[in-house]
Amino acid sequence: QEDIFKNVVSHAKEYGFIFPSSEVYDGLSAVYDYAQNGVELKKNIREYWWKSMVQMNENIVGLDAAILMHPTTWKASGHVDAFNDPLIDNKDSKKRYRADVLVEDYAEKINQKAQKEIEKARARFGDAFNEEEFVTTNARVIEYLSKYKEILSRLAKGMSDDLQDVKALIEELEIADPETGSRNWTDVKQFNLMFGTKLGASADSAMDLYLRPETAQGIFVNFLNVQKSGRMKVPFGIAQTGKAFRNEIVARQFIFRMREFEQMEMQFFVRPGEEMKWYHHWKEARLNWHLSLGLGKENYRFHDHEKLAHYANAAADIEFNFPFGFKELEGIHSRTDFDLKAHEQYSGRKLQYFDPELNENYVPYVVETSVGLDRMFLAVFATSLQEEALEDGSTRTVLKLPAVLAPTKAAVLPLVKKDGLPEISKKIIEDLKWDFNVAYDEKDAVGRRYRRQDALGTPFCITVDHQTLEDETVTIRHRDTMKQDRVKITELRAIIENEVSM
Ligand code: ATP
Repeated sequence: QEDIFKNVVSHAKEYGFIFPSSEVYDGLSAVYDYAQNGVELKKNIREYWWKSMVQMNENIVGLDAAILMHPTTWKASGHVDAFNDPLIDNKDSKKRYRADVLVEDYAEKINQKAQKEIEKARARFGDAFNEEEFVTTNARVIEYLSKYKEILSRLAKGMSDDLQDVKALIEELEIADPETGSRNWTDVKQFNLMFGTKLGASADSAMDLYLRPETAQGIFVNFLNVQKSGRMKVPFGIAQTGKAFRNEIVARQFIFRMREFEQMEMQFFVRPGEEMKWYHHWKEARLNWHLSLGLGKENYRFHDHEKLAHYANAAADIEFNFPFGFKELEGIHSRTDFDLKAHEQYSGRKLQYFDPELNENYVPYVVETSVGLDRMFLAVFATSLQEEALEDGSTRTVLKLPAVLAPTKAAVLPLVKKDGLPEISKKIIEDLKWDFNVAYDEKDAVGRRYRRQDALGTPFCITVDHQTLEDETVTIRHRDTMKQDRVKITELRAIIENEVSM
């Protein structure tokens, strides 16, 4: 699994998807840049989300609120006081860890040990292997799995509230520093994750601001502006994508946990008392959205929270099977009227809706769906990256991205660099580029060019050869099946459209 993950990171760099930020200065920890292909894939994921949320729902509209907000916003939201993570320092190595992540990683390691035992036994017993029986009778596996489940259930109850409890759990589990093996910890401390900055130049009048740690608050403070100007009727939603910033302590796992990242959030405003109906509706709708990408049903699971954040009365994560195990990809939260009420209180303004059907005023309840765009990128990218054994005994690296998300939809390749084939290729591109991102490549043998496009995730390669000069046909090669068809140039648009449209 570690190797798979390393492959993902190096493939992303080698093929122009993701670079470390400011790499000439050796990078900046947990900050990344999206390169020429990454920016396209990321944009396509964002558009796929936006279309399903805003375009397909007549009662959801978009918003693009500023990253900088009035500082009182973060008092009202609870971020100044409560947006804290429990931290623990290693006295020897001076390394700092987020306590919950440390415990989570430890749990994952134990689970992996159990899975290894199971795989070993499967290899030994072959067809006669009965997994169910094995995991209920093998002492070592029972021990690993029960410890794993115990830790997960403790984590599900939440760790951040009682710091002593966190410390005790780390001691009880005999968790060591993953890098040094030392167990010499300091006390657990709270740490605020918000990035501070200043507005204004003069020292006395400068105002302390925060870079937003989530996009949601920009939606809440605009709730009434949007409702009135858009004549929206409850239930309705406001969707937004944009950057958020968290001074994360554990800066690892590539773009899974970054300090500057992008969220795609939708806040759905409902009548008080109807929030559970909508919470279940959005849980299902969001899972279906993920499944529509075809990355495999088995790669998703819900994690319902037992212990809830201060603003929620129900919460679940959609977890995805990343190369390092199942981890949160999206959160669905029933946030009650906490945020709007808090903004009412801190601003002194009413944030109420007049419901014409009920003939009454109320502060709506909110159901939120919040997915990390970068985590989506990682989920799609890592799952799509495959090493495939071919019939002739060779292997190929292929990025089987959902065609709708692929950065480039087709590459046009003249078989040779002469006889007018490049000219015809370029004419095809001129025609297709109005609708699709299309690439041109004339370098190297055509087989190598196919491989390169496979590695970039391009769904189609269009090859122009000498027969094209005679009958205006080309071959079109499909990335996943490697099948080639001879088709008329005039048919290309429809063939591509059919595969890549949302
Ligand atoms: P985690 O527990 O993994 O830190 P969270 O529960 O704090 O995540 P939320 O506040 O619910 O996350 O944010 C919603 C979504 O934003 C998450 O599901 C995740 O996809 C994304 N996200 C949160 N923090 C980060 C980060 N540091 N880097 C990338 N994506 C993030």
